[in-house]
Amino acid sequence: MPAVAPEISNRPSFSNDEISRRIQNAVLEHRLAPGTKLVEERLAEISGVSRTKIREVLGKLAHEGLVTLIPNRGAFIASPSAQQARDVFVTRRMIEPEMARQLANTITTPQLRALRRHVRQEGEARRRGEMHAVIRLSGEFHVLFAQMHGNEILLRLLRELTPLTCLVITLYDKPNVPACPHHEHDALIDALEARDGERAAAIMLEHLRHIEATLSFDAPATAAVDIEAIFS
Ligand SMILES: [Zn+2]
Repeated sequence: MPAVAPEISNRPSFSNDEISRRIQNAVLEHRLAPGTKLVEERLAEISGVSRTKIREVLGKLAHEGLVTLIPNRGAFIASPSAQQARDVFVTRRMIEPEMARQLANTITTPQLRALRRHVRQEGEARRRGEMHAVIRLSGEFHVLFAQMHGNEILLRLLRELTPLTCLVITLYDKPNVPACPHHEHDALIDALEARDGERAAAIMLEHLRHIEATLSFDAPATAAVDIEAIFS
C-alpha cells in the first residue's frame, strides 16, 4: 500500500474527540444512517489520523452503542432493533422526568437564559428550514439538562441516549415528524422558571411520549450516506 499521499498529509488532523464528536453529530443530524459502513481506511484518510486512532474512536463509539463492530466485516453505525428502540424510550422516561423535577429546585438565572437561547436557536434553524440542525439542537436540549445537574454520570448517559434516539428516529420515524415538538421545550423552561418540579416532570414525560408516538416500530427504513460529508 502506498504511503500517505501529500495532499492528504496536508489536511488538518483531527483529535480522537473531534472525530468522535463529528460522527455523533452526523448521527444527531440524521446525516449518517443506521447500518452505514464506517470504512477505517477512508475515515483515516479523510480525518488525517492513523487507522489505529480511528480504531480507538470506533471502539469507544461501539462501547456507547452508537457503532456495531462485526468481526471480519468492520464497523457500522448501529441499527437498533424495535426492542432496543423501545428500551431507549423506556430508559429516557425513567431518567428525564426526574432530571427535570430536580432541576426545578437548582436552576439558576444564567442556566434559564442558556436554555432560552438554545430554544431560540432551534426556532431559527426551523425557520431557515435547516432540519438537520433542528434535529441536532433538539437532542442537545436534553443533554443541556444533564449538564446543568453537574452530574458526570448522568451527562454521559444522556450523551449516549441522545444519538441513540436519533438512530431510532431515523429508523422508525413516520414521515414528516422529525424532532421534538418545539413549544414543549418552551413549556419545560417555563415550568423550571416557575420552580415547579412536578409540572416540569409531567411535561418531560409527556414530551418523551409524544416523540415516541411519532414512531412506528414495525417497518425500519434504510438509506445510503456519504461518510466524507461528515468531515467537510
Ligand atoms: Zn425535546
